[in-house]
Amino acid sequence: METTRKTYTVEQIAEDFVYNELEARGLFGLGGNLIIQPEYQRNFIYQKLNKEAAVIESLLKGYPLGLLYFNVRDDGKLEVLDGQQRITSFGRYITDKFAILDENGMPQNFSSLSADKKKKILDAEILVYECKGTESEIKEWFRTINISGVPLNEQELLNAVYSGPFVTSGKTHFSNSNNAQISVWKHYVSGTADRQAYWAEALEWVGKGDVSGYMAAHRNDANCDRVKTYFDSVLNWVKTVFKNTEKEMSGLEWGRLYEKFHNQPYNSDKIEQQIKRLYGDPYVKDRKGIWEYVLGGEQEADRRLLDVRLFDEATKRKVYEKQTKAAEAAGISNCSICASGHVGNASKIYKLSDMEADHVTAWSNGGSTSEENCEMLCSSHNRAKGNK
Ligand SMILES: [Zn+2]
Repeated sequence: METTRKTYTVEQIAEDFVYNELEARGLFGLGGNLIIQPEYQRNFIYQKLNKEAAVIESLLKGYPLGLLYFNVRDDGKLEVLDGQQRITSFGRYITDKFAILDENGMPQNFSSLSADKKKKILDAEILVYECKGTESEIKEWFRTINISGVPLNEQELLNAVYSGPFVTSGKTHFSNSNNAQISVWKHYVSGTADRQAYWAEALEWVGKGDVSGYMAAHRNDANCDRVKTYFDSVLNWVKTVFKNTEKEMSGLEWGRLYEKFHNQPYNSDKIEQQIKRLYGDPYVKDRKGIWEYVLGGEQEADRRLLDVRLFDEATKRKVYEKQTKAAEAAGISNCSICASGHVGNASKIYKLSDMEADHVTAWSNGGSTSEENCEMLCSSHNRAKGNK
């Protein structure tokens, strides 16, 4: 890969700057010769992070904005590899898209600045490295750089690596903050559109967990219609089975749950009652497991999903001492099942470390995780009884 060092002024780079309000991204500059956001770039996020004004203030103070990297295409046009956020910030300022506060706290857009301040911004010099290489060299390099103000996340990197019409179509649908469907999606998927959360999740679901494999296989697809259809199928199923939404539902593995359970019939009224009961159960430590637990028919083996509160050490010791004292007085085993058996263990006294706590009334039948509902059993009998 060849690199050439060049210097441009802010005025040159911002010449014929075009900003797309709907997609919230800067598009072109350098008099039409610069493509600000090629497919592997992320959306413009400086505006949201309130970093736009800092870029302008740096220029007014004469601070350097840092290096920019452009990719020289075969047709001679330039694409921004790194620097999109900074260019879009000054491009938007010069075209009066936002104002900064002056030393008196008054908002000033570019048109209202004094001539010397305007000149200071426009004449500021920007150092640019222009890189020329094969598509894979450029993408590999882009994958390893981390010189942007905000590091790229995994999905943003994958968008860069597998750029093409498929990614463009996916971002247009899933990564567009103006998509009205986000008001529904956000109940089930956590994260934000501009950081690719919905696009990443849709790919995760349709790719059965293998996002990069799916992107590699479909990178030349003309659009992402299959991803959309699958994503909608999953969410429609979730909305049908679960009438209500709770905050813990956002970010669950709905794609996996859909694959596992969507062929089973459910009564949504009954499901709602089950969820309500478990949601209010103080022994359920992990509420996020409730939905899968209910979908699976509240199986004992799935109890781990709820991380049901266990007996603490103090309770176990207290119950052990009480039980052992009584057993010794009666000359029987301190494990009640051993004591009622006919084998050699009927009078065996176990050490605390050889015993385990058991719910007398099973937790699934409403038994609490309290001293009154705790019985110590020898390890083999407790395991034989099943982990209640
Ligand atoms: Zn026993």
